[in-house]
Amino acid sequence: MLNRVAFVTGASRGIGREIALTLCRAGFDIVAASRVIEQDEAIAEQIRACSGQALAVNLDLSSYDSIREAFATALRKFGRIDVLVNNAGVTRDGLAVRMKREDWDRVLQINLSGAFFAIQQVLPSMMKQRYGRIINISSIVGESGNAGQANYVAAKAGLIGLTKALAQEMAPREITVNAVAPGFIDTDMTAVLTDELKQKLLAQVPLRRLGRPEEIAAAVRFLASEEAGYITGHVLNVNGGMYM
Ligand code: NAP
Repeated sequence: MLNRVAFVTGASRGIGREIALTLCRAGFDIVAASRVIEQDEAIAEQIRACSGQALAVNLDLSSYDSIREAFATALRKFGRIDVLVNNAGVTRDGLAVRMKREDWDRVLQINLSGAFFAIQQVLPSMMKQRYGRIINISSIVGESGNAGQANYVAAKAGLIGLTKALAQEMAPREITVNAVAPGFIDTDMTAVLTDELKQKLLAQVPLRRLGRPEEIAAAVRFLASEEAGYITGHVLNVNGGMYM
């Protein structure tokens, strides 16, 4: 039987890299995408070491043409995409009253519109094969809100709405659409927080530690599996109990 093919955005580092490696170890062929990944031999080698086939493809989610091209390249190579993980995301934090229009636009464009246009690229082949797993990486703040992140929170809450709408629309084609909502995870994105802020955040986490990228990847691996076929429109919190 053919291996299932998983396309992971934002696979160059952090959570996305871990998702790509975890799915690879679970037997998927992998398309690892981010802005400048084609020259990144380290990730390609790690994926090849899992014995699955790998393709690293440049993808800039702020460009519609780049999105179309990246998915066309992946479909040319593998002929199918069974799993799409919309993981790539950026922050441009600031108080709403002073938020620059470009910071609002960029975060919405990459985190929400980019994810939607990526989904549009895989739907025709998933609908045809009557199988698909779409997993959107949202965030705890998409449910709880967070001061100073109006753009990011709007995008992440938007991803949850998108997940539920598409779960209903795609269910007749046996395509499941789910979201994973991480809490605070130890990656480049949280490395920029001051120690003081980290301590404040940790005080709100019942499990009293940051999460690890592997813990998000394990949730994605489950939702991507055949066994998760009766779960759709769900938001899986992986947040140490910070928001229930
Ligand atoms: P990260 O370490 O900052 O990595 C972000 C990834 O997105 C990188 O691979 C980056 O690759 C890619 N990316 C950025 N801009 C892009 C663009 N225009 N087009 C395509 N790819 C782009 O972030 P992370 O912490 O792993 O977060 C991964 C996801 O989890 C994000 O959606 C984030 O919002 C979400 N999340 C993270 C946390 C956390 O605590 N870390 C919590 C909740 C949710 P290049 O720079 O190479 O393009």
